[in-house]
Amino acid sequence: MTKKDAILVMNAGSSSLKFQIFEIIGSSLSRLLRGQIEGVGVRPKLSVKDSDGGALLDRTWLVHEVPDLLSAISKMGDYVRSIEGIQLRALGHRVVHGGPDYAAPVRIDAEVLQKLAAYQELAPLHQPNNLAPIRLAMQVAPHLPQIACFDTAFHRSHSAHADRYALPEALYQAGVRRYGFHGLSYEYISQVLPEVAPELAFGRVIVAHLGSGASLCALRSGQSIESTMGFTALDGLPMGTRSGQLDPGVVLYLISHLGMSAAEVTELLYHQSGLEGLSGLSSDMRELLSSNDPKAQFAIDHFVHRCGLHIGMLAAALNGLDGVVFTAGIGENSPEIRARAAESLEWLGAKLDPLANSQGVPRISTPESEISMYVIPTDEELVIARETLSILNAG
Ligand code: ADP
Repeated sequence: MTKKDAILVMNAGSSSLKFQIFEIIGSSLSRLLRGQIEGVGVRPKLSVKDSDGGALLDRTWLVHEVPDLLSAISKMGDYVRSIEGIQLRALGHRVVHGGPDYAAPVRIDAEVLQKLAAYQELAPLHQPNNLAPIRLAMQVAPHLPQIACFDTAFHRSHSAHADRYALPEALYQAGVRRYGFHGLSYEYISQVLPEVAPELAFGRVIVAHLGSGASLCALRSGQSIESTMGFTALDGLPMGTRSGQLDPGVVLYLISHLGMSAAEVTELLYHQSGLEGLSGLSSDMRELLSSNDPKAQFAIDHFVHRCGLHIGMLAAALNGLDGVVFTAGIGENSPEIRARAAESLEWLGAKLDPLANSQGVPRISTPESEISMYVIPTDEELVIARETLSILNAG
């Protein structure tokens, strides 16, 4: 039996490992399956689904069997090797930080890996996890090509002003820049705009990636010109557990007056803030929306308020606005949050079509609306697979 050539896409986080396998068919790709190992070190669980979402496998382990990310990667490796009829041709990795250098995906060798490891300081919570499967694969399958695809790369088109903080240049040279994140998601939306929303492909568009992590990106003719995230994925909108934009004086106060350590401030800003901190109930938008607790309502109101403010900021950066695209968990699934965000666009002439919004069909604005509004499900893994294939084909 001839085996199907395939690409394995990996997205390694701190407590979960997501992966997908795509079959290579000439120059195109067909998704075969998607899987994830969640609850690493707590309640490890592998679930795999086929391309239509049908369950292929569900299994759990005892905590000590999958205590950390490395053991999760090795369990995933065991599973992938057990799949009959596929031959892996390459691995595509989501890597959060491409630093100031990488504006495009790159084939990984020892030198590249060293550079990416140096960016660990810029993204200490994410980069080490992203690099772990790369290192492991280099040892067990040294000849398998590995490609790194970066969350920051899509924003390298920013102007010098957009890339800078008003800090001394030495800090900029040392890497303190407004990198922007969620770039793989924005790249996907930018790629599908000509097909889904042709009138926006060359226009001024804000993409609202609203998930557990949330940010906005300003696209001009499909290129990123601004983003609400900056040096880290903490900036901009409030998120599930992250604070979003904060006066840096608050951080100084926490340290100098409240005596908090850097580790405690990190824990506060990354894991105890955002919707979680505001509501004291949950980081999960769906849970907040279904709660009657006034604190849940307050957290949602705050989130929507900040979305409106940042939309206004990016509309100004674009010198006007032609369209808005909602994507990611909240953006794709919550008509209520979309409706509230659309209210904050009324001053720009946006008119929501309530029926289309409730159905989540791609176009959710009325024909008279001066701003086109869309819901487009994102697909970061497909972007990684495509980029991996194009580097593979380029030799
Ligand atoms: P990530 O990939 O960053 O973990 P997602 O893009 O999956 O995050 O988004 C997760 C968020 O989407 C959660 O806050 C979740 O509650 C929210 N979400 C998912 N479905 C719905 C829904 N039907 N209504 C409201 N929010 C939803």
